[in-house]
Amino acid sequence: MLLPALRRALPRAGLRWQHRAPVEVVNEPVLQFMAGSPERAALQKALSDLKGKTEAIPCIVGGKEVWTADVRYQVSPYNHSHRVAKYCYADKALLNNAIEAALAARREWDLRPVQDRAEIFFKAADMLSGPRRAEVLAKTMIGQAKTVIQAEIDAAAELIDFFRFNAKYAVELEGQQPLSVPPSTNSMVYRGLEGFVAAVSPFNFTAIGGNLAGAPALMGNVVLWKPSDTALLSSYAVYKILLEAGLPPNIIQFVPADGPIFGDTVTASEYFCGLNFTGSVPTFKRLWKQVSENLDRYHTFPRLAGECGGKNFHFVHSSADVPSVVNGTLRSAFEYGGQKCSACSRLYAPDVLWPRIKGELLEQHQKIKVGDPAEDFGTFFSAVIDDKAFGRIKKWIKHAETSPILSILAGGRCEDKVGYFVEPCIIETKDPKDPIMQEEIFGPVLTVYVYPEKQYKDVLQLIDSTSLYGLTGAVFAQDKSVIAEATKLLRNAAGNFYINDKSTGSVVAQQPFGGARISGTNDKPGSPQYLLRWTSPQAIKETHTPLGDWRYPYMQ
Ligand code: NAD
Repeated sequence: MLLPALRRALPRAGLRWQHRAPVEVVNEPVLQFMAGSPERAALQKALSDLKGKTEAIPCIVGGKEVWTADVRYQVSPYNHSHRVAKYCYADKALLNNAIEAALAARREWDLRPVQDRAEIFFKAADMLSGPRRAEVLAKTMIGQAKTVIQAEIDAAAELIDFFRFNAKYAVELEGQQPLSVPPSTNSMVYRGLEGFVAAVSPFNFTAIGGNLAGAPALMGNVVLWKPSDTALLSSYAVYKILLEAGLPPNIIQFVPADGPIFGDTVTASEYFCGLNFTGSVPTFKRLWKQVSENLDRYHTFPRLAGECGGKNFHFVHSSADVPSVVNGTLRSAFEYGGQKCSACSRLYAPDVLWPRIKGELLEQHQKIKVGDPAEDFGTFFSAVIDDKAFGRIKKWIKHAETSPILSILAGGRCEDKVGYFVEPCIIETKDPKDPIMQEEIFGPVLTVYVYPEKQYKDVLQLIDSTSLYGLTGAVFAQDKSVIAEATKLLRNAAGNFYINDKSTGSVVAQQPFGGARISGTNDKPGSPQYLLRWTSPQAIKETHTPLGDWRYPYMQ
């Protein structure tokens, strides 16, 4: 990086400053928060600063704080008497103002050199990595009920990685230029899309919100960001960091809103040019349908990117290493209360290994602590996000209690007096096609199907055809030929496929994330390809010799 003084001197010398992307961008190290460490002390201070506090979060439209009469509260899932944020919903008129303000800022922003835009994201990443880390972690823990490690891998590591790697990829993309053949030179200009992009984020990852709004902005777009109602505290912190890092006002409008009102308003605008969505399948389908209904209004065909749910599997072969299966499955199924799109919710175990796997699963299950992640760092996971999620998960557990083919092996108690707590639940099914093996539950519920060892090939077919989703999956086997076979048979069953590793925990730039089938458009955030969704390249040909005749020589 150039020194600031040199940077200021360059324009005076008639030179333009060019940020060179760091040659190496590496993944942000995940801090360990051991007793006595500085990061632990900083986090504990940030958590105690938030105790009993309610932060007021306005809409930010046209660069100004705006309050509407529709005031709401975000509560802490593990202590719902604590209102962590007071915010308001943008109404239709305010959303239309946001669209206008964004469009007015578009041209200038799009013309800014990509190096300048990238610099803002590098700076935001540095702020998150250093002085703002504890604040964003604490807000993610208290607002979204994450444990220390789950907040750290999300709101610190993943978000920092998104900002840094996207910035690096964007600058490198600019270097991808077409062939020039004399007497012409050719170039490719990576323009933002013409219009505004709507970014709609889910509750479960602070990093995803920052990326859904940030990646299109980095590529020269203007964005309306509708954060999730249950992740407002951390989303607003990320938004403010971007502004402090130098993102000009109006590039991202921060507009909490009722989902359907937001969806109806943005898709009705003639300037709608992109949707960057992560959330459930029904919401994405609804938005896609609205876009097709409004297609005749638009100035440009909108880009639709949607990352949705999963019904992720762990397949265990008889040659598998049992501790890896047990520990990997407990982490994948129950970390963050199973509220990861990649969480394992169906386990296929061979009969020969099942007694051992079951014994170890049940033994470890007893040691899992569910509670307040801020008060007790020994908590493995905390409450589920809200009353709706609590009710939905409870229904699935009731289904298991009342079905003759399902038996609950452990856990499943639900208690919502203080927070929305659900015990980790392990269920065995005799029917591999029961709805509990097909539909996303999004809670701490794992269902196991025990199969006759010899029939493992049929089970691979079964895994592939049981659910409509295709997000993540894992194969546990030491036999190489089985791994090769499973990789082939499950080629379309998972966009992120793991061998002898759990189905969760993808890392930016290492395992770019996303699935096909109804799991989404599989645009792979965390990869250079993702950025192509947010640019509309223009090819420019310039010819340097005059054209002296309209006729071709052979005509004479
Ligand atoms: P959700 O669909 O309920 O909500 C997602 C967002 O859409 C929220 O901001 C919500 O307010 C908004 N919304 C709701 N209705 C809308 C409408 N009609 N128009 C516009 N916006 C609308 O999902 P959620 O409960 O927040 O998130 C959980 C889901 O997200 C799960 O299915 C999970 O698997 C999925 N998810 C997927 C990934 C991935 O990368 N594939 C990552 C995280 C979460």
